Amino acid sequence: MAKSSKNGTKPALLEVRNLYVSVAENEILAGLDLTVHEGEVHAIMGPNGSGKSTLANVIAGKPGYKVTAGEVLFEGRNVLAMTPDLRARAGIFLALQYPIELPGIRNREFLRTAVDAIRESRGEEKLAIREFNKLLEAKAKTLGFDADMLKRNVNEGFSGGEKKRNEVLQLAVLDPKLAVLDETDSGLDIDALKVVSDGVNAFRAPDKAIVLVTHYQRILNYITPDFVHVLIGGRIVRSGGRELALELESRGYDWLREETVGASAE
Ligand code: ADP
Ligand code: MG
Repeated sequence: MAKSSKNGTKPALLEVRNLYVSVAENEILAGLDLTVHEGEVHAIMGPNGSGKSTLANVIAGKPGYKVTAGEVLFEGRNVLAMTPDLRARAGIFLALQYPIELPGIRNREFLRTAVDAIRESRGEEKLAIREFNKLLEAKAKTLGFDADMLKRNVNEGFSGGEKKRNEVLQLAVLDPKLAVLDETDSGLDIDALKVVSDGVNAFRAPDKAIVLVTHYQRILNYITPDFVHVLIGGRIVRSGGRELALELESRGYDWLREETVGASAE
C-alpha cells in the first residue's frame, strides 16, 4: 500500500472531494469538499437538515445513502468501496447522533469483540480478558461511567447523556485514527459535557484527527477546533477558525445562507 508520495509527505487522513449524496431521491450533499490532516480537529457546523449527519454517516458507511458523484479517501484509499466494517478496521470511528440500542448484547462484550476485531486487523494479538477489563475499567472511570453500565446491554435504557458517554467510551477503547463525532454534545448537561469533552480531548494526538459535527458552538468552548466549516446547501460555504463559530453563535446561520444564495444567483 502506497502510504506516502514521492516527496515523503503522507496523503491527507481524510479527503472528501466533490461529494454528491442523495437520500430518498433528495440531493443532500452537492459538491462537498473537506480535507483533514493528522493532528487536526475540524468542526462541521450548519443549520438543521443541512446534511451534517449525512456527511458523517457516508464517511462511516451507514446504509441508506446514495453517493452519486465524488470521492471519499482515507489515507489515500477509496473508502466508498469499503464495507462499514472495513472502514472501522482501517481506523474510522463514528459516534452516532442517535446511538442505537442493542438489546441482548452486553456493553462489555460488545466492546471486547470490537477491540479484538480491530487488533486483529492491525496484526496485533487479542488482549487477555483481564488486560481488556483493566483497560475498559480505567477508561470507564475517567468518563465517570458506572461499572454497572458495562454489564448492561448496549445503550438499552441509557439516558441521552449516558448514550453519549458510551459513544466516547467506545472512542477511548477502540482508539481509531479518525473520530467522526455527530452532535456528541446534544442532550448533555454542563457536567456531562465537560466529561465527554475531556474524553475527546484525551483522544487528540498528532497522528489522530477529529471531525466534530455540531449545530451549536457550545462544545467548542471545551474542544478547541483548528478549523470550523459551515455546511449550507450541500456544500461547505465558509471555512475559518474558532472565531467563525463564535460569529455563528451571535449571528445565526441566515446571513451565510443569504450570502450563498446571493452569490449563486449572480
Ligand atoms: P443535519 O444532520 O445537518 O441536521 P441530516 O444529514 O440529518 O441533517 O439530514 C439532511 C436532510 O436529509 C434533511 O432534510 C433530512 O430530512 C433528510 N433525510 C435524512 N435522512 C432521511 C431519510 N432516511 N429519508 C428521507 N430524508 C432524509
Ligand atoms: Mg444531524
